[in-house]
Amino acid sequence: MAENKMTFDALVVGGGIAGLQAALDLADQEFKVAIVERDASIGGKMIRLSKVFPTLDCASCITTPKMASAAHHENITIFTYCEMKRLQKLAGGFSASIQQKPRFVDELKCIGCRQCEYECPVYVADPEQGGFSARKAIFVPFSNAIPQVAVLDVENCMLCGKCEKVCPTKAVDYLQQPKDFSIEAKTVILATGIGITPLENKVQYGEGKIPNVITALQMERLLAPHGPYNRVLRPADGMEPDSIAYIQCAGSRDKSMGVPYCSRVCCMYAIKQAMLLSGALPLADVTIYYMDIRAFGKGYEQFYQNAKAMGIQFVKAKVARLTEGENGAVTVHYESQEADGGVTSAEHDLVVLSLGMVPDWNPAGYCEVSTASDGFIRSVKPKLAPTLTDTEGIFVAGAAAGPKDIVDSIAEAGAAAMSAAEYLTVLNSRRRAVA
Ligand SMILES: Cc1cc2nc3c(=O)[nH]c(=O)nc-3n(C[C@H](O)[C@H](O)[C@H](O)COP(=O)(O)OP(=O)(O)OC[C@H]3O[C@@H](n4cnc5c(N)ncnc54)[C@H](O)[C@@H]3O)c2cc1C
Ligand code: SF4
Ligand code: SF4
Repeated sequence: MAENKMTFDALVVGGGIAGLQAALDLADQEFKVAIVERDASIGGKMIRLSKVFPTLDCASCITTPKMASAAHHENITIFTYCEMKRLQKLAGGFSASIQQKPRFVDELKCIGCRQCEYECPVYVADPEQGGFSARKAIFVPFSNAIPQVAVLDVENCMLCGKCEKVCPTKAVDYLQQPKDFSIEAKTVILATGIGITPLENKVQYGEGKIPNVITALQMERLLAPHGPYNRVLRPADGMEPDSIAYIQCAGSRDKSMGVPYCSRVCCMYAIKQAMLLSGALPLADVTIYYMDIRAFGKGYEQFYQNAKAMGIQFVKAKVARLTEGENGAVTVHYESQEADGGVTSAEHDLVVLSLGMVPDWNPAGYCEVSTASDGFIRSVKPKLAPTLTDTEGIFVAGAAAGPKDIVDSIAEAGAAAMSAAEYLTVLNSRRRAVA
């Protein structure tokens, strides 16, 4: 990364499953592609999941080969820990101003040996494991992260110097500064994905202060093969839960949270997790409180019916609030919408919130692409060409255009790559005609 300006055919912003797929499809057609990813590793949400509905395939077994293919592809260059500060339209292309955050580790020297991590005396909660286990102040993000390069967490480092001393390649650099560079590309694909509605925004559900109320993303980590405990335990006291409840639409279809729309995938991931819990904790009761189940994709309704047949309880209800009960239990106060109706409550050992999905990135101030009323990137032809934005040459892929499952994200990424390839072919032939 010595040069300040680099030139590619396509720039893909976001290295989740949609960005990776779009980049691979373009690179296989001999286009030169740059992927810019904000995190220290590519992989997006999918690399953090346990298994995926409706097949229950291992998520990292699907994501890791895609990540590795992108990393080893001769036509793809990956820039991690990088933020796009500005995207400007030029004659016949775009210029993106990128800032790479300091890792305080030289990316070119680090060999991912983790000696620094083993030696570091500081332990902090690891967000990659839902905050349930600890990591060091210098760390390689996770075992299959790409790139395998350490990052120093400057907020928690006490500058003891141990990592610098032990590093065999002298990669630790406490004085590293942010690096600015620009990427010029003829076309851009925005694959910036989804974020989760903050738990703190829901007063009725305890604002994240009730110890045994967790998010579905945290449950993904509890269920993952390399999770924080290697089994499902309650975070507050390490007890194996006998009764687990899911609260659906906890932050979707809720104007008070600013998320009036359905987040589409939460019903399915809650059912998936409930099934996995039935395997991990065969004696536990699992209850899903829902307003209505949206099992929209191929095979999804059967998946839902299978969950019912496995004994997972589905309670049609509106959950009003959650309170802390005795011995770490959580009381769910709800209005039943079953035939018998009424306002009632039930106690569970652990409660999982199926939080809503919001855009992970707002283009306002960064580039001239508009968003729809839900805040996601606006598709100008949602039915006929869903990857077209209102700026010619910029396409959108995956959940950046609205909440989506993996199948739809990958399909849309393929469509965005096709549209970008077509755009590049026309642009190149016009240039040849002028020359
Ligand atoms: C708890 C949970 C469970 C799920 N389970 C399933 C399941 O079982 N099956 C299924 O089909 N779907 C599931 N999903 C949905 C699935 O996660 C999404 O379909 C998928 O992640 C969408 O991929 P994406 O690449 O569009 O977005 P993301 O995975 O969100 O990736 C976007 C990437 O872009 C990066 N980025 C964002 N902004 C910028 C920027 N400005 N500059 C650079 N990089 C940026 C982000 O860091 C991220 O790496 C689940 C979702 C959740 C929350
Ligand atoms: S200098 Fe900081 S990161 Fe390095 S070992 Fe000491 S505390 Fe850990
Ligand atoms: S910074 Fe040094 S010690 Fe740490 S992983 Fe990289 S090469 Fe190994």
